[in-house]
Amino acid sequence: MVDLVSQYQHIKSQIDTGFEEVLNTAAFINGPQVKSFTQNLEKYLAVKHVIPCANGTEALQIALMVLDLQPGDEVITSDFTFAATVEVISLLKLNPVLVDVDYDTFTINPEAVRKAITPKTKAIIPVHLFGQCADMEEILKIAEEHNLYVVEDNAQAIGAEYKFKNGDTKKSGTLGTLGTTSFFPSKNLGCYGDGGAIFTHDDNLAHRIRGIVNHGMYKRYYHDEIGVNSRLDSLQAAVLNTKLPLLDSYNEKRRKAADFYDQAFINHPNLIVPARAEEYSTHVFHQYTLKVINADRNALQQYLSEKDIPAMIYYPVPLRKQKAYDNGNYNDADFPVTNQLIDQVISLPMHTELDEEQLEYITNSVLSFFN
Ligand SMILES: *Cc1c(COP(=O)(O)O)cnc(C)c1O
Repeated sequence: MVDLVSQYQHIKSQIDTGFEEVLNTAAFINGPQVKSFTQNLEKYLAVKHVIPCANGTEALQIALMVLDLQPGDEVITSDFTFAATVEVISLLKLNPVLVDVDYDTFTINPEAVRKAITPKTKAIIPVHLFGQCADMEEILKIAEEHNLYVVEDNAQAIGAEYKFKNGDTKKSGTLGTLGTTSFFPSKNLGCYGDGGAIFTHDDNLAHRIRGIVNHGMYKRYYHDEIGVNSRLDSLQAAVLNTKLPLLDSYNEKRRKAADFYDQAFINHPNLIVPARAEEYSTHVFHQYTLKVINADRNALQQYLSEKDIPAMIYYPVPLRKQKAYDNGNYNDADFPVTNQLIDQVISLPMHTELDEEQLEYITNSVLSFFN
């Protein structure tokens, strides 16, 4: 699905130099690389504060911790995504409220959010799934009407740009109260281990988050609140400092590969190519996700696998039906889209190193399945 070895070969000398700088100074924790990466990312995103942390899941957890939500408060998020969101909501003893998504874009359906609001609702976590922003203008409007926090899970869309109806643009992850991301190796901006970050324009929240990630310490060995230990290490920051200036070109390569796939599949009766919500978001194609209709999706996956093409089902089970999160309160009829998607979606290889030969082999193989 990804080719991080080839990508490394292209940037090897910079990466190796970055590693040597860390090794030669042994400043493994909070080295100058962490500070410079943080500043570079703030500049790239045009956001006031970036607080690095250990991974994208903890970024979400810390974001919810700083909002001072109380046990039993409700947080609305998507039923069709990776489990990290519902996991941290549940860990903090908050109540996850999972809602349906939009069929075209795979992102949270604002109407479903509206219907799920109760007096206990405190926050919404839209997930910018597969590389494209959720319908944020609508979500921000709902949040304002009901006085809710918005935490954007931007793990799959770093570098995407949101366009407001008045023409203003903002980088994904910088529109809500807080944004979070992951630097897991296969993400669009990935390091060589684990890493994550939280974004905000709010000085007070940023100050609190810097304390929370460091054991709740605002002064050394004085613990004002219960925190966690969550750090991005210097070696990972060195990798990210090399890769951040390349992020836009990496995302462009992903878009080029997506264009190639689109060309091959756009008129096929059994395939629906991923919609681009161009009126409000650029697409950075973390995944290229097709829908298979009136044909056997699992057989296609098996067929591709026999041709050595990895194709993945993101995601095979709705979160509300996972053993850990099935609270018995959900009604199947409220999730017509998620119920369809889990049977239809298939994601093809998507990364920065796909060449024309590989793309041709993949597209020809997909098409030959239907002949
Ligand atoms: C990867 C991912 C996360 C979690 O990131 P980690 O760094 O692996 O903890 C959270 N949300 C989404 C949507 C993701 O894709």
